Amino acid sequence: MGQVSLRGIRKAYGTTEVIKGIDLDVRDGEFIVFVGPSGCGKSTTLRMIAGLEEISGGDILIDGVRANDLHPAERGAAMVFQSYALYPHMTVAENMGFSLQMSGVPRAEREAQVGRTAEVLRITELLKRYPKDLSGGQRQRVAIGRAIVRKPKVFLFDEPLSNLDAALRVNMRIELSRLHKELGTTMIYVTHDQVEAMTMGDRIAVFHKGIVEQLGSPLELYNRPANEFVATFLGAPRINLVDRPAASGAAAAHRALWESLSARAGTGAQRIGLRPEHLQVVPVGQGIPAAVVLAEHLGDSSILHLRVEGVTDLLSAKVSAEHSRIVSGQSIGLLPDAAWALGFDGQGRLLPRSA
Ligand code: ADP
Ligand code: MG
Repeated sequence: MGQVSLRGIRKAYGTTEVIKGIDLDVRDGEFIVFVGPSGCGKSTTLRMIAGLEEISGGDILIDGVRANDLHPAERGAAMVFQSYALYPHMTVAENMGFSLQMSGVPRAEREAQVGRTAEVLRITELLKRYPKDLSGGQRQRVAIGRAIVRKPKVFLFDEPLSNLDAALRVNMRIELSRLHKELGTTMIYVTHDQVEAMTMGDRIAVFHKGIVEQLGSPLELYNRPANEFVATFLGAPRINLVDRPAASGAAAAHRALWESLSARAGTGAQRIGLRPEHLQVVPVGQGIPAAVVLAEHLGDSSILHLRVEGVTDLLSAKVSAEHSRIVSGQSIGLLPDAAWALGFDGQGRLLPRSA
């Protein structure tokens, strides 16, 4: 079992409250991602679960047992950090077996466990090497191996892939998902990278300034974000946000765009969000007139940055490769897919969809 519950968790440093009341239930065996911008309190929350940081208020329950005052070693949680912190004078096998040795596990049993873990991580051939003879990705595997041999109820990962280059990060993302399936152990994974969150999480908790803005499956959060913060944090290029045009004097193109979206976005919307993939290009003279400020052709698709008269921000459109001859400065028509429009009220909260 590895079920973790946070009940009204708070953390203050002096008079500054950095965690402002978090309630969250992590299911047994779940892969949950804490995502949010730097400084929003992800690591602090993870460290409180691990017992490395005292909590200022609320309760932490692990498998239903209040863990607030339990020593880190008694919580059944194993943490993997961004910096691997391997012992340089120990081999991979010794690094991985060290915690077992410290808790008095006999040598033969230790070696068996390290061997099994190395097989799961596919690093058997590295067991006799020293950390200095490993690549970054291999070191991170060893650090994960060190956590696995302890057979924790819950793994806590704090941005474990941040030090790896882009290609290796993709590989390790796949590896960690595989590992999760194989072990079936609860994993709480902290990252500021929305792609990691979207691809790895069974569920995602979006953190912002010490609270959880929304908890849900990746697609729930992407398609029905609770507010503008979640809407803009997930998705690249960023979601387009269009302000309600003024009652009089607004540009015709701005008004036309708003009217094409607002029927589905809920009554009373002050802003409407539409993701770049829901803006399509049509010939000039059709749709809403727009000017291409910059065209980025990626081969398989193109990102167009567009000016619509009267709309404050540039809009982004993600279109298929058939539009790869569009150039900066060109005029085009825009066709929004209003079925995906998201209406937000004056406080930035998502409005219920209208029929
Ligand atoms: P994240 O991991 O999301 O980037 P952290 O949990 O590390 O954010 O930090 C949350 C907030 O708490 C930040 O504003 C940070 O400056 C503050 N903080 C973290 N540790 C301390 C500390 N020891 N003393 C004072 N403030 C801290
Ligand atoms: Mg952090």
